[in-house]
Amino acid sequence: MAEREISCSFCGRKKSEVNILIAGITGHICDHCIDQANSIVREELAQQKNSQVEASLTLQKPKDIKRFLDEFVIGQDEAKKVLSVAVYNHYKRLLQPEAKNSDDIEIEKSNIVLVGETGTGKTLLAKTIAKMLNVPFCIADATILTEAGYVGEDVESVLSRLLQAADYDVTAAERGIVFVDEIDKIARKSDNPSITRDVSGEGVQQALLKLLEGSTVNVPPQGGRKHPEQKLIQVNTRNILFICGGAFDGINRIIERRVKTTTIGYGSKELELDESDNVLRYVAPADLRSFGLIPELIGRFPVLSYLNPLDADTLRRILTEPKNALIKQYIKLFDMDDVKLSFDKDVLDFIVEKAFEYKLGARGLRSICEAIMTDAMFELPGEESSQKLQITLDYAKEKFSKSKISKLKVA
Ligand code: ADP
Repeated sequence: MAEREISCSFCGRKKSEVNILIAGITGHICDHCIDQANSIVREELAQQKNSQVEASLTLQKPKDIKRFLDEFVIGQDEAKKVLSVAVYNHYKRLLQPEAKNSDDIEIEKSNIVLVGETGTGKTLLAKTIAKMLNVPFCIADATILTEAGYVGEDVESVLSRLLQAADYDVTAAERGIVFVDEIDKIARKSDNPSITRDVSGEGVQQALLKLLEGSTVNVPPQGGRKHPEQKLIQVNTRNILFICGGAFDGINRIIERRVKTTTIGYGSKELELDESDNVLRYVAPADLRSFGLIPELIGRFPVLSYLNPLDADTLRRILTEPKNALIKQYIKLFDMDDVKLSFDKDVLDFIVEKAFEYKLGARGLRSICEAIMTDAMFELPGEESSQKLQITLDYAKEKFSKSKISKLKVA
């Protein structure tokens, strides 16, 4: 009797009709069916992942978001509140089924602009939100972006970074958060819109607009233009949240001018702006426009908030209170070497005083601490006798006076 030709146990194709037939314990599978099964598995996994992401997103209410931010960022209550609501609404928007009828209400994306001096916590806020939501996060610097065709990076490179942060998981990247730093640096230099070739300004704003609008963008996975041969990856930016930050140097005057002129007139009382008031509190989209951002771009940022400059009190709290506060980090570092580290209270005051004096802000706290602690961090590990290190004011002053920072001119 002729031997029966083996066939695929799934589709029934005979061995002669397929390229490859793989044998299992009790059956066979052909290359067609492997391909098909593979795409079913991938689709199923992607769907499972989506629903996992969605399930985790429903948990965060604005108050929960703010509470989480409070653990890492000191003060800046107004910005935190605005951000919490914006992020909550953003993820509510992600969870709503796609609008099918034209009369369905579609919730628009709530991209955010944060205005505030450098070092006041803009990046930290964005980073902390991403950490809480457990979504991919990247920081892009607007100053290195240029219009396509010029030296510098195309705006698409922003998304390359997000893809890298997401380990090239496109679905995850498409729900990520991008923090664009120094957005004020791409403002039009003059208020004259007729300037046609403005490499660093308007062209970049236009290009950025494309990302913000929610379009499918071809992204070079490695970023940059250095690898022209790389295969582009399509990323849809519809659900990516953009948070932009900038110091907007000089915007104070623009705000003051606007506030004053709009309050002058019959029956209106001039708004009193006293010295201690943070003028940024009154920032409005019109001010960003006067600063040099194009209206289309401003229109893509429905949420606008501000940060307060850090006073000595806040700096003091930053030193000790956040979950990963500097002082806590040093204590942990020494603890790993079995050394119990402590700081006298007046040392902390001294650190803050110096950061304030040299106008170094919160970033300066770290350099000052390093100046004080480096010798101890070098000497102590491996020493038998010292199990305890108490940093006194005299010790701190002595180490600080020998450091490079102390040679800086007081601003
Ligand atoms: P910005 O983006 O506004 O220039 P960052 O968010 O990068 O400033 O802040 C610089 C560093 O200063 C942060 O890494 C953080 O350690 C510290 N810092 C600034 N503001 C705060 C704050 N409000 N609470 C806690 N830490 C802060």
